[in-house]
Amino acid sequence: MELLKKLSQTPGISGREERIRALIKEELEKLADTVSVDAMGNVIALKKGKSGRQKVMISGHMDEIGFIVSHIEEKGFLRLSPVGGLDPRNLVAQRVVVHGREDLRGILMPASKPVHIMTPEEAKAPLKVSDFYVDLGLSQEETEKLVRIGDPVTLDRDFIEFGANASGKAMDDRAGVWVMLEALRQIKDHEADIYAVASVQEEVGLRGATTGAYGIHPDIGVALDVTLAVDGPGSSKQFQVSALGEGPAIKIMDSASISNYKLVDFMRTIAEENHVKYQMEILPRGGTDAGAIERVHTGCPVVTLSVPTRYVHSNVETINKEDLKNAALLLAKFLENVHKGDFTL
Ligand SMILES: [Zn+2]
Repeated sequence: MELLKKLSQTPGISGREERIRALIKEELEKLADTVSVDAMGNVIALKKGKSGRQKVMISGHMDEIGFIVSHIEEKGFLRLSPVGGLDPRNLVAQRVVVHGREDLRGILMPASKPVHIMTPEEAKAPLKVSDFYVDLGLSQEETEKLVRIGDPVTLDRDFIEFGANASGKAMDDRAGVWVMLEALRQIKDHEADIYAVASVQEEVGLRGATTGAYGIHPDIGVALDVTLAVDGPGSSKQFQVSALGEGPAIKIMDSASISNYKLVDFMRTIAEENHVKYQMEILPRGGTDAGAIERVHTGCPVVTLSVPTRYVHSNVETINKEDLKNAALLLAKFLENVHKGDFTL
């Protein structure tokens, strides 16, 4: 889990992926024949197959949700614009890192009174991301020397392993990137050319995967991402989407793509033949890189392999370690056999 820890803790909001990109590029260089970075910042690694008759694009996004500094107030407090889908309820009393001229730790709080002196109406009002500010403990003058408008801000949270699980920030989608790297490490003979893409700007609308897929023009696309596991107290099985410990989830549909049903069946068969525990997934709202890959050129059959994750889009995103390993195993077996499939409709 050392690599997952490094992936989780390295910063990289959408559009400012340079630090996480450097780490992932270094890892891919150990595993692929060629590695390049396109103009959007996607890392594209090619692992050549024996026949190279198909091009398979596998894609996990490297960007994470966060903020950019939008305003510096008197006394040096920072105001923020959100990057990606942040839930204000998860942001109260958190720590952040402001990536200015140096990394600065700060406290994230909504601009409101302590609960002791709130009226009942004030206590009930819903929070908005724009209510929040960052306290860097610096004067306005010191802040202005170190921080500029547009600097990225990430959530600050240590990665931990506890019981069967692991938790940290940005498991969405560093868990998917881990699955991609681990599958490339495990894979043996394969006929298809594998294009492994660590994509950028997924959290703001699948933007990196769009240009990545356009350049690669794949025959088959597999997105690697997290999905919701709403399997704790207060949830119902009907709406849980997925559950931790039940294996990686093979996606049937979300709000950005409907998986090619033959690819879904093929992935299931591969899981069953290799005795890999899996579950099926339908996500009512949300999307993955598959939604971009399937729409470039004249279209491409796609499927998503998901890592079930609790508390998605908080800084305690939690995965099950066996699910993660099984996702990598299933992906490796899929890639070794994908040339045998026929996914024409
Ligand atoms: Zn994601």
